Amino acid sequence: MVAASPRARRRISILGATGSIGTSTLAVIAERPDDFEVVAVTGNDNAAKLAEIARAVGARLAVIANPAAYAVLKDALAGTGIEAATGDSAVVDAAARPADIVIAAIVGAAGLVPTMAAIEAGAQVALANKECLVCAGELFIAAARRAGPPILPVDSEHNAIFQALGGHAIDTVEKIILTASGGPFRDWTVDAMAAVTPQQALRHPNWSMGPKITVDSATMMNKGLEIIEAYHLFGLSGDKVEVLVHPQSAVHGIVAFRDGSMLAQMSAPDMRTPIAHCLAWPERTESGSPRLDLAALGSLTFERPDPRRFPALRIAREALAAGGWATNIMNAANEIAVDAFLRHRIGFLEIAELVEETVARAAGLATETPASTEAALNLDREGRRIALELMQARAGLGIAS
Ligand code: NAD
Ligand code: MG
Repeated sequence: MVAASPRARRRISILGATGSIGTSTLAVIAERPDDFEVVAVTGNDNAAKLAEIARAVGARLAVIANPAAYAVLKDALAGTGIEAATGDSAVVDAAARPADIVIAAIVGAAGLVPTMAAIEAGAQVALANKECLVCAGELFIAAARRAGPPILPVDSEHNAIFQALGGHAIDTVEKIILTASGGPFRDWTVDAMAAVTPQQALRHPNWSMGPKITVDSATMMNKGLEIIEAYHLFGLSGDKVEVLVHPQSAVHGIVAFRDGSMLAQMSAPDMRTPIAHCLAWPERTESGSPRLDLAALGSLTFERPDPRRFPALRIAREALAAGGWATNIMNAANEIAVDAFLRHRIGFLEIAELVEETVARAAGLATETPASTEAALNLDREGRRIALELMQARAGLGIAS
């Protein structure tokens, strides 16, 4: 018998290497360091951490987006032979460097241009940055079709759906189910939710993640973004994407096929599993994540989300039905609102209110799906402007807390 030839080392770049997904990706690579060669790593402003990562993995290039942090990066990498660079365009260049796989793990619409550059350069993109799809999903899917390799979903629910689909055509699917933990306020009253502090919202019961997505999970806007993400990734209309609250976070996604079969993917709530799936696809590799102990869990429960306490799901579905302009504006407003909440400028329930008001206000101004990256970025800026304006008006009226 002839032994299978060892697979060549996969060249990998990590956009957002200093964040939560970046850190989990580095942990997966550390399981099998000989299988990977790190081309580029990027971060926003934590230059010391980025330099430490670049040295540890022997990256060829490290890019810090914020020029104010460049001196620290350059000093820390002096004499290592690792190239250092700064600025938004350098992040885009890093994304476009020849690589087999690019992990898109920048948070928010800031990831739009670099992720698009990675797709256009022909890399296999493993996408964590769901906001890009909500902002300009049509453009991303069209660019990925032109470039060739499919986008691999890192987001655990979409990764679960991708795995459960197992290559079946989408017309064999009746619906998909995305699960949600329900976040820290799953069974809180509206009155109690009105007084939630950033500190409370940042304490997620099951997952350890960056601050923005942790707040999105608490409002369930994360699941709203994920409905739109699923629409783009799998080509399924919104009414075929169901959300169920599953507090144990063991089942991440379920595909219901037209013959009545339901296939689910299960794993511990740890992003190293979906990341490892993307890094090795179509093969499998070690992830280093903990194993699910079903007997210890005892039971798995599922319930419908409460639309009254979590209006973000309805807002997201309405935006999806209205079109690409509305999801773009919704995402921009949500980024502004989450940031304002984290800075104690608005209350927890005001996040969804502000998002809904911004989309309503923008309805008269924009009605077309952005046809280019520039158009998507312009719309995003407009959404942010309107959201800030509405927030100031609220503060003036004494509505904001
Ligand atoms: P994070 O805040 O921990 O990390 C974000 C990364 O993006 C950091 O490296 C940061 O330096 C970089 N960044 C931020 N602003 C930037 C800018 N303007 N320019 C360049 N780089 C910038 O966030 P995270 O939790 O790792 O999430 C990253 C993305 O993955 C988000 O879109 C999130 O929704 C998605 N995601 C995260 C998880 C998770 O478990 N953390 C799960 C599913 C999806
Ligand atoms: Mg998710």
